[in-house]
Amino acid sequence: KKSIVRSHSGDEILFPSRKRSSRLASNGVEEYEWALGWMNEPETDETISIRLDDSENKNGLVKVTTITLSKEKVGTEVLIANPTPLAPNDLVTLDHFHEPTVVECLRRRFEQGHIYTNTGPVLIALNPFRNLAELYGEDVMRMYWNHAEQQVLDHDDLLPPHVYAIADNSFRNMMRGLEMSVSSKKNTNQSILVSGESGAGKTVTTKYIMKYLAALSQRAHQSASGRTRAYLNVPSHSSSPPDFTSSLSIEAQVLQSNPILESFGNARTIRNDNSSRFGKFIQMQFSETGRLLGTAIETYLLEKVRVVHQSEGERNYHIFYELLSSSVSEEESVRLQTRKRKPSDFKLLSSGTYVRRDGVKDSDTYQDLQKAMKMIGFSSEEISDIVNVTAAVMHASNTIFDPKIDEGCSVARDNVHLTATCQLLGIKIDDFEEALCFFSRMAGGQVYRSPQTVERAEKGLDALLKATYGALFEFLTNSFEQLCINYCNEVLQQQFNTFMLKNEQAEYISEGIDWDFIKFPENQDVLDLIEHKTDGIMSILDDMCKAPGASDKAFASEIIKRCDKQSCFTANFKDTSPLFSVKHFAGSVEYTTDGFLEKNRNELPKETSELLKSSSSKFVHQLADIIVDSSSNGNVEASKTRTVKTVGGFFRQQVKDLRQKIDTTYPHYVRCIKPNSALVHSEYDSAMVAQQLRCGGILQAVSVTRDGFTLHYSHEDFLQRYQVLVAEKAGTVTVSKQAIETECKKLVDTLLGRIEEEEQYHSNKESTNDLATEVSAV
Ligand code: ATP
Ligand code: MG
Repeated sequence: KKSIVRSHSGDEILFPSRKRSSRLASNGVEEYEWALGWMNEPETDETISIRLDDSENKNGLVKVTTITLSKEKVGTEVLIANPTPLAPNDLVTLDHFHEPTVVECLRRRFEQGHIYTNTGPVLIALNPFRNLAELYGEDVMRMYWNHAEQQVLDHDDLLPPHVYAIADNSFRNMMRGLEMSVSSKKNTNQSILVSGESGAGKTVTTKYIMKYLAALSQRAHQSASGRTRAYLNVPSHSSSPPDFTSSLSIEAQVLQSNPILESFGNARTIRNDNSSRFGKFIQMQFSETGRLLGTAIETYLLEKVRVVHQSEGERNYHIFYELLSSSVSEEESVRLQTRKRKPSDFKLLSSGTYVRRDGVKDSDTYQDLQKAMKMIGFSSEEISDIVNVTAAVMHASNTIFDPKIDEGCSVARDNVHLTATCQLLGIKIDDFEEALCFFSRMAGGQVYRSPQTVERAEKGLDALLKATYGALFEFLTNSFEQLCINYCNEVLQQQFNTFMLKNEQAEYISEGIDWDFIKFPENQDVLDLIEHKTDGIMSILDDMCKAPGASDKAFASEIIKRCDKQSCFTANFKDTSPLFSVKHFAGSVEYTTDGFLEKNRNELPKETSELLKSSSSKFVHQLADIIVDSSSNGNVEASKTRTVKTVGGFFRQQVKDLRQKIDTTYPHYVRCIKPNSALVHSEYDSAMVAQQLRCGGILQAVSVTRDGFTLHYSHEDFLQRYQVLVAEKAGTVTVSKQAIETECKKLVDTLLGRIEEEEQYHSNKESTNDLATEVSAV
């Protein structure tokens, strides 16, 4: 139980690191071990005494505890806190900076409704778990862009931290980068990396970022005078809110990608009602006047297994329920043969026991989806094609295989779902049966056709459903699950560490700045364990997939043999289920190798992709091409060649490309944090918040920023940006490094002189001159 006691000297509060109770909090995590206390006058030269009260006992009485500790404990077991009311917008400004103080400040801010907090260059976003419409309205948007436009510089200290501020900053960095690129090859591309655990608010945050950028673009367009700076020249009073709904503008279209992705790629899980079951990289492209030109969305590793199986309390993808909702027209439900059907009528919707989404109606989201597909430009024919295939997947899950007396199985014909499947996919029932109930093999130039058992046929059907749905998802977005996702996070974490910690400090050292190197955790060892060319888990897995007769157990033995010496790897080889664990940056994760080989192979029996190829529908053909393109398609010959696309191999390449793309941008970071696991707005679980801060390496990053420099300019860019202030020199570009340095020094001196004059002039007023602040920082 946290307790807060007033210091009698009134200014310093301490956090003793006593475990206050061994009681477990509701979420099973031990309660946060830091409690607030007050320091009494020093008792002796060697000891200090701390008062802890406010810890209510059984009778509701406040119990005051006094602890006496050796002074040596200050800094380790006892940390100095900040004055109580201080919960600043930017935690970098705290006098005393350490984890408990950050957790405590975030709590105070959260309780006051301030969900956003800057910690140096990282924006922390606490999920409010309630609608904060007033935080995102047009007026708030306007406040951020007007503020930005009135300032010469990007100082956000007058406005509270906000995800709009990050979006605004990136936009202006990009525009400014354009101007600078004339003289130096600066990165004009910006990236905003939004991370956090499931349910922390990444999707919601990303949507607000996109909304803000689209709004800025619309302004740029409305006011475009053809000049690069057009977006800066709009008088603030004319900033009427952009209207996205009435127009078919590109801005409106870009925002409409979200409902589509969510219907097909989001599902209810136990952690999040609207959990994204894929990763995404959204690229928004702007013209040089700041007009949004378009967007490209790359998606990563949709969780396909969800199509055929959901855990207790979870759902399949929203789209399936939407297709059974009251928003589907009579005509459409007749076409889809879903009239009067409910989720429990379909096998693929019944394993998770049907659950609704909280507060969101499938009928409403279906309307949003329809509107979005039209606005994005799908023709009505395409929309029917997409919906037909989705319904077909639903019907096909109800296929029944009857065992034959002698050998093999057949498809039960007396089944309305069978006819529906085949009609919607444009295929023949006989072909459907042939593809699933028989297996053909080429040997010695001859085709051998052998019957399949019911069990194999059902597996084949699952593979077909997953592949078809996966292709549909890929179509919509142009474009071993857990380990792969964790690997991707690991790569992004490394990017963060490198950018925030390694590069920054390396630069200070190369610039000869006196600097105490701050240690930070590296995760290259984890990456090596996963992606090493020969001895990494993924390449061992690829090798095993090529070896005839290899099994998940054999794979387990092989990784144990080859990875056992790695410090971040532990094996726990049990006969029943081979386990291994990886010490990821964010914590240890245990994996069972069951199903790894099959998941990695990405095989779809040739018969089934050929089945889709036989369709009379052009659209289904297209899906078959997507499947063949991304799969080794059960072709043993192909899997011996180096071009084989295993799931792991394909993903590794995607992640590598992602990292390369991010490396060519100027990154901005948003860390979303889930304040409690009950998903309620009224609870703040300190232990959980602390855990999430640690996982992201936030505190180390902030330490560098706190002690380091806030702005970086090359001499050349500095001159380019500020020379205009020393009028007679404007326009001169000097080339030699030394000359530039000399120029810069002169310029800085001149500017500092001016600041001083200005300060004297305004000595009675509070100077709000941001130029002064920035130049002094430089
Ligand atoms: P996942 O990894 O599972 O996809 P996520 O990080 O994308 O999770 P979101 O879907 O964005 O999580 O957020 C979960 C829920 O939290 C939202 O459906 C919404 O109810 C709530 N939420 C998140 N951010 C906000 C916000 N800024 N304002 C109001 N509610 C929010
Ligand atoms: Mg999400």
